[in-house]
Amino acid sequence: MGKIIGVDLGTTNSCVAVIDGGDPLVLPNSEGARTTPSMVGFTDENEKFVGQQAKRQAMINPEETIYDIKRLIGHKYNSDQVRRYAETLPFTVVEATNGDAWVEVGGQSFSPQEISSLILRKMKQTAEDYFGEEITEAVITVPAYFNDAQRSATKDAGKIAGLTVRRIINEPTAAALAYGFEHTDDANLVVFDLGGGTFDISIVQLRGGVFEVASTAGDNHLGGEDFDRAVLDFLLARFEDETGIDVGEDNMALQRLKEAAENAKCELSTSSETNINLPFLAVDDSGPRHLSLDLSRSQLNDLVYELVERLDAPCNQAIEDAGIAKSDIDDILLVGGMTRMPLVQERVEEIFGRKPHKGVNPDEVVAKGAAIQSGILGGEVQEVILLDITPFSLGIRVTGDRFSPIISKNTPVPTLETKVFTTTEDNQDLVTVTVLQGEDEIASNNKLLGMFNLTNISPAPAGKPRIEVTFEIDTDGIVDVSAKDLTTDATQSITVEGHSGLSNEELQRAIKRSQESEMATA
Ligand code: AMP
Repeated sequence: MGKIIGVDLGTTNSCVAVIDGGDPLVLPNSEGARTTPSMVGFTDENEKFVGQQAKRQAMINPEETIYDIKRLIGHKYNSDQVRRYAETLPFTVVEATNGDAWVEVGGQSFSPQEISSLILRKMKQTAEDYFGEEITEAVITVPAYFNDAQRSATKDAGKIAGLTVRRIINEPTAAALAYGFEHTDDANLVVFDLGGGTFDISIVQLRGGVFEVASTAGDNHLGGEDFDRAVLDFLLARFEDETGIDVGEDNMALQRLKEAAENAKCELSTSSETNINLPFLAVDDSGPRHLSLDLSRSQLNDLVYELVERLDAPCNQAIEDAGIAKSDIDDILLVGGMTRMPLVQERVEEIFGRKPHKGVNPDEVVAKGAAIQSGILGGEVQEVILLDITPFSLGIRVTGDRFSPIISKNTPVPTLETKVFTTTEDNQDLVTVTVLQGEDEIASNNKLLGMFNLTNISPAPAGKPRIEVTFEIDTDGIVDVSAKDLTTDATQSITVEGHSGLSNEELQRAIKRSQESEMATA
């Protein structure tokens, strides 16, 4: 059997690892770096490049450099969150015919799946260069809080890249696997993962080689980018105060400010003060105008205070859901680049009442965990039992816009649950099954995953027919739903993944496009 790679497909950076000689090994890319910026650059000649090279061109060609695609994958365009986010991006986000958010570069539109596939292709290539053989299989990590559409879309990205995705695993679970590989003692572990785009918190219990995720919570829209944005807004306001010029619409200036904001944020993790220097940011009648200022760590902390406060609620929720006391926690594992920020570490200590564990590299631990999962699938690593859970409740809409959960959140996966429903009108021959995800008692406040009709219900008075609805979640967290009239045995079902994301035709087209460009660059 060929090698299976473990890929951390990150919002900001990606990392690939494999099992080599029984241990997880992070592979350096062709530029010698252990992580690769999750960025794709396009040129007017329709050339594409990924990683550091794309990051370098972002400054001079921001409209044609795609970053943070993970924040768009599996999302509909038509949501306030996506539209508001798209407005902050220098590149163009458009609504695809299926309603998804896609990006447009040089008059061509690309699904986030296709952009992500280019990043995965680079990861695949990195491993192929290392082993000197073709790699066709992967384990890919996603935030625990990724919903069904986002998971399915990530799997499609793998397919487009020429990879069979053997398993999608949750990032915190992967981190716990990597930790458990080196620590064999029983423990209650907190995995606190604050990355570029998302925040995930999981409580994992390690017991005699069994990893059980007891609870998971988070915020799909809280990450390093928001911290950068807070600094960027401050820089924009400062520049306008000093010069009267608003560069908020100037993409080139914005890109430079964004990069300066991120650099300053990172530098202030180790220094107490940094200097931001952006010559020639704008020009007015008096000539070129520059931005130069000192930023201290305490100023930064003030700017991002509200973001850091948002970390509390998911942590408390996860502890409550796990049914343990804070004093029962044995270790806190920090994952994601943002956990290098001292204010974040202080907050973690405040929330949990103990210092977090040092000694794992937050940029690599997820990819190592993915490699360990690959090793388990490939038989190179001794089987450990991994019990993951679903982070959301899943159910259907019933009369009065009420939500009837069928699988409740924090249920171990894979799982299968059924519930019996009935009709509300005499001789009703059709029911619409509306599949929802969320925790709100009001159905319409939850996320719609898909809909289908069960038809030909045998005529009967209201309340008489027995309609069995079955929900199944597989090990990748992907949901199947079916409904059956128990009188006639008529059945209808959907794999929820089929109802969002790319159609089969679009997927095949993207695979073909990927193979053609592979031949062109070979
Ligand atoms: P990840 O998605 O895990 O790759 O995390 C990337 C995020 O971590 C980005 O927002 C980075 O700016 C941020 N980051 C990386 N290094 C540091 C650092 N030393 N201090 C603060 N933030 C950092």
